[in-house]
Amino acid sequence: MIEKRVELAKLTTIHIKGQVDIKVIENLDDFSKLPESFTVFGNGSNLLVKNRNRNFYKLSDKFSYVRIEDNALICGASLKISTLMRFLIENSISGFEFMAGVPATVGGAVFMNAGAFFESIGDKILYATVFCASRGIVVFEKDKLNFGYRCSNLNNCVVIEAGFLYNRVDKNFIKEKIANNIKTRLAKAHLTNTFGSVFKNPLGDYAGRLIEESGLKGFTKNSAKISDKHANYILGSKQTDIDDVLFLIDRAKEMVFKNFGVELEEEVKIV
Ligand SMILES: Cc1cc2nc3c(=O)[nH]c(=O)nc-3n(C[C@H](O)[C@H](O)[C@H](O)COP(=O)(O)OP(=O)(O)OC[C@H]3O[C@@H](n4cnc5c(N)ncnc54)[C@H](O)[C@@H]3O)c2cc1C
Repeated sequence: MIEKRVELAKLTTIHIKGQVDIKVIENLDDFSKLPESFTVFGNGSNLLVKNRNRNFYKLSDKFSYVRIEDNALICGASLKISTLMRFLIENSISGFEFMAGVPATVGGAVFMNAGAFFESIGDKILYATVFCASRGIVVFEKDKLNFGYRCSNLNNCVVIEAGFLYNRVDKNFIKEKIANNIKTRLAKAHLTNTFGSVFKNPLGDYAGRLIEESGLKGFTKNSAKISDKHANYILGSKQTDIDDVLFLIDRAKEMVFKNFGVELEEEVKIV
């Protein structure tokens, strides 16, 4: 495995300040070298690094593949959703348009059960090949996989590959649906310099509404800012310190609890 020091600005979509050492997993044999406790990076689109001394790993581009086989859409875990979208259009494959504009990898999307527009990745899955610290490399069929609201039963596991159900429709229909979904996203929130939703929506409500009504839209701490477009988004840049982002997260939790008695739960993974 290659070990390298990488800027968090390159590893995370909020492009935060700092560096970490990561080991790059190049092949299946490398999994046997993983320690008991580790953190794997996908595209860093829902990940904040507080403790830079953890055992960090990332799957190499060798795990970035997509093909159709036996009526399943098969994706390697490091495949980016943007690359997947291009494949889907080229091959007239429908069912994943809801993921357009989500800057994730397939592995991160499966682990988080990413979703939007009332659909989620777990609804489409047929199987996942995973490495689990306790069991080695195993294939979990759909009935062994549990998905909830932005969670799965894959803790302490690394998704290596996933197979999905799909259907074929006219490629213009797919193109149009993807374009519309991206347009909707852009109108409501941001596509860059953020990590998506900070908090899960509490039952029957929206975290963004509670934060906005707590007067925190546009609230800043140095270069970190609660978006003035969508209050459940935090924006940052290469100058942004993790402590400033964590400050905003704590402030939002504190104010929402004070104003509404609601305890917000982070969607973003803070490690
Ligand atoms: C602009 C923007 C829009 C977004 N919109 C949405 C949305 O509509 N819906 C939604 O659900 N999310 C959304 N997100 C959040 C984010 O894209 C998802 O949570 C996504 O699933 C994270 O994937 P990732 O590859 O970036 O994982 P990372 O952010 O790198 O990691 C997230 C978690 O997944 C784990 N992980 C990553 N890869 C693997 C793997 N191969 N095996 C096991 N665990 C892994 C990490 O250890 C971490 O715990 C958005 C984010 C941004 C920046």
